[in-house]
Amino acid sequence: MSEPSEPSAPESAGQKTKRIAACPQCGASTRLDASNLWRPFCCERCKLIDLGDWLSGRHALPVTETETDPLDPDHPRDSDG
Ligand SMILES: [Zn+2]
Repeated sequence: MSEPSEPSAPESAGQKTKRIAACPQCGASTRLDASNLWRPFCCERCKLIDLGDWLSGRHALPVTETETDPLDPDHPRDSDG
């Protein structure tokens, strides 16, 4: 009986990689480790805001309203063609 000696694979093999990402809500540098209770957000505020957006359905249909009127003579079409 020779059981294979499984080498304990250390997750942190010397490399200390700081998991920093931008907050999806405000874009601030956010830590993604366990110390951040609101990850991937930077704070509870951003998390609640994003949650509210989801509940209100803002993320469901990304509608972009265009303010520029195509019939507006002040915005001629650039003939760069
Ligand atoms: Zn944030």
